Amino acid sequence: MTHVLVAGGGPAGLAAAVSAARSGADTLLIERYGFLGGMATAGLVNPFMGWHAAGKPLVAGIFQQMLDRMQALGGYGSERQPTAFDPEIFKLVADELVREAGVGMRFHTLLTRADVKQQRIVRVGTEGKDGHENRSADIFVDCTGDADLAYRAGVSCEQGREKDGLTQPMTLNFRMAGVAISRMPSRQEINRLFDAAKAQGRVTCPRENVLLFHTLHPHVVHFNTTRVTHRDPTRADDLTEAELEARRQAHELARFLIADVPGFERAYLQQCAAQIGIRESRRIRGDYAFTAEDAVEATKFPDGIARSNYPIDIHSPSGAGTVIRSVPEGDYYEIPYRCLLPLGIDNLLVAGRCISSTHEGQAALRIMPTCFAMGEAAGLAAAMAAQRGISPRQVQAEELRHALREQGQVV
Ligand SMILES: Cc1cc2nc3c(=O)[nH]c(=O)nc-3n(C[C@H](O)[C@H](O)[C@H](O)COP(=O)(O)OP(=O)(O)OC[C@H]3O[C@@H](n4cnc5c(N)ncnc54)[C@H](O)[C@@H]3O)c2cc1C
Repeated sequence: MTHVLVAGGGPAGLAAAVSAARSGADTLLIERYGFLGGMATAGLVNPFMGWHAAGKPLVAGIFQQMLDRMQALGGYGSERQPTAFDPEIFKLVADELVREAGVGMRFHTLLTRADVKQQRIVRVGTEGKDGHENRSADIFVDCTGDADLAYRAGVSCEQGREKDGLTQPMTLNFRMAGVAISRMPSRQEINRLFDAAKAQGRVTCPRENVLLFHTLHPHVVHFNTTRVTHRDPTRADDLTEAELEARRQAHELARFLIADVPGFERAYLQQCAAQIGIRESRRIRGDYAFTAEDAVEATKFPDGIARSNYPIDIHSPSGAGTVIRSVPEGDYYEIPYRCLLPLGIDNLLVAGRCISSTHEGQAALRIMPTCFAMGEAAGLAAAMAAQRGISPRQVQAEELRHALREQGQVV
């Protein structure tokens, strides 16, 4: 019998599965794709946003182990973009970590159902090439990013801004190869050219500027610039329209870069991500909701299980513009364990971008290093709860924090 079942193998889920298995729990990880990483790989998201305050790391543990192993394989860090990583090396290292920890793996498996009795998930249903299957576990960890498992178990969820339910926009990341980087103009000049092309109607992307990052590769540039608003990331119809629109924008932007921007004359669109990037979808209602004030006031909690100083970063849900609200210089906030505990279900933890938070709070906690840290805490708590026959709510936060420190995490 599986003790801990983790749904979703993105940054949160892979860390949760490794953490649970290393803590001695018989762990199964279910992932709908054929590789791990979620937005980091399928969404082609890059680089890791910052995780240091006053020169000290705010996240270590399994995340740092990923970095070390990727670096050893030449897949992490470059002079131009120190926290960039190679998504293929990410996949390989993630495979190694889950394998070595003894995690049971099930790729190509979509979680579609949860049966609940007396506030406990008794089994979940999955769909794969084998058809529909049932699986049970003592403790479940929802790391699907969209809170699919919690939602199907009947957990109350919120989505988007309070006033109109609109979420942050979706973005299809893409990469241009064959770029003569030494001849690329400044970002300011690229944005001037972008504005001119927009004025001529050759670029119709609603984003206010070109967001680009360097990669590990000498002639490849990464673009986080397409923008699709007013679509619901939990509806297949909306996702279909979003993918079509974002791909159209990516090719339009590629044509603009090749035609207008020095250094791109011989470039080509090398790759769009396998799926459109989703910044925000469902957020569970849990024992505590992380807020904007918690982020910008650098709040610490007695049950803090992850740290970050990433600002509130809201890409406009309705058009152009990006709002940033920073954390005081050198300081950080904590994510309380209670945000991982969904109301109404006793044997479920949630980790990653869909934990209990407000729209603004989520805009700070959503980055990959923080999701790794939340996942590591959730996996450890799940193992503790499964081994003791208690609910995650009964796990003592101080003991959890102590155990996290023991395994190298910063709390
Ligand atoms: C466009 C964009 C740009 C971003 N830029 C950055 C950046 O520069 N730096 C940074 O650090 N962060 C960035 N982020 C944020 C970050 O990538 C995500 O918030 C983070 O990856 C969330 O991690 P997660 O594990 O919670 O969810 P995800 O990464 O979404 O992973 C969820 C996993 O669950 C799987 N899954 C989903 N549903 C099911 C199901 N029903 N059954 C089985 N499996 C399922 C998915 O396939 C996926 O593997 C960006 C995000 C986007 C969208």
